Amino acid sequence: MPLDHDEVEAFRRAREGVLARIAEAARRAGRDQGEVTLVAVSKTVAAVRVRAAVAAGLTVLGENRVQEAAAKILEVPGARWHLLGPLQANKARRAVELFDVLEAVGSLELAQRLDRVAGELRPGRPLPVLLQVNVAGDPSKSGFDEPGVEAALPQLASLAGLRLDGLMTIGRLVPTAEEARPTFRALRELSARLRASEPRLGPALSMGMSDDYEVAVEEGATIVRVGRALFGERPRPAGTDPAG
Ligand SMILES: *Cc1c(COP(=O)(O)O)cnc(C)c1O
Repeated sequence: MPLDHDEVEAFRRAREGVLARIAEAARRAGRDQGEVTLVAVSKTVAAVRVRAAVAAGLTVLGENRVQEAAAKILEVPGARWHLLGPLQANKARRAVELFDVLEAVGSLELAQRLDRVAGELRPGRPLPVLLQVNVAGDPSKSGFDEPGVEAALPQLASLAGLRLDGLMTIGRLVPTAEEARPTFRALRELSARLRASEPRLGPALSMGMSDDYEVAVEEGATIVRVGRALFGERPRPAGTDPAG
């Protein structure tokens, strides 16, 4: 299907709008906007629209599910792909084949499995990953808790097949963006603490979504994951997790 040029133009404007707000937030915090990567979250969005988004410059894409992404990645060339959703052990191999960055590594067992698979599929090229930490203590979210990531870090850092780029978190659903700030601050402070004892943990902080990415940038985000503010509202079947 050919690209719809009005759609590409609309994505270009949406991208510029989000980038301008990232730049403003970075400036308020005395940061350089170049430190922030915009991941366009394309889950549930059809491949033809995602191709238009890539043509508009949204070249880093985020998906939640390996299965959904597998078909899309083939149909949408020219992008880098981040896996944002929790990964089942039996999909680890497929995920390593498909994605450039795995953002939601939330257990030592999963990390060990990914390490083995990456060592096999891409020897000498460690797989970029982020450790998901549930700093908000949200029982519906997966990931390490703070003591858990601290305890596992020496073992995680010894996995030669993985490159530990940094940390990722998903905030609680809160009524205002400002209420997400303590979560983002907690992730930044955790990162500083962990990096003081384990320099192999990188500085990336993936935090902030459509409703609160500006606050996240003020608090130090280096990756923001923005879906609805670029692609519009997602269809939401009743009873599903809004972040899923
Ligand atoms: C869906 C999702 C996003 C994007 O959410 P929006 O509210 O659409 O910006 C970001 N991160 C994760 C982990 C998600 O599942």
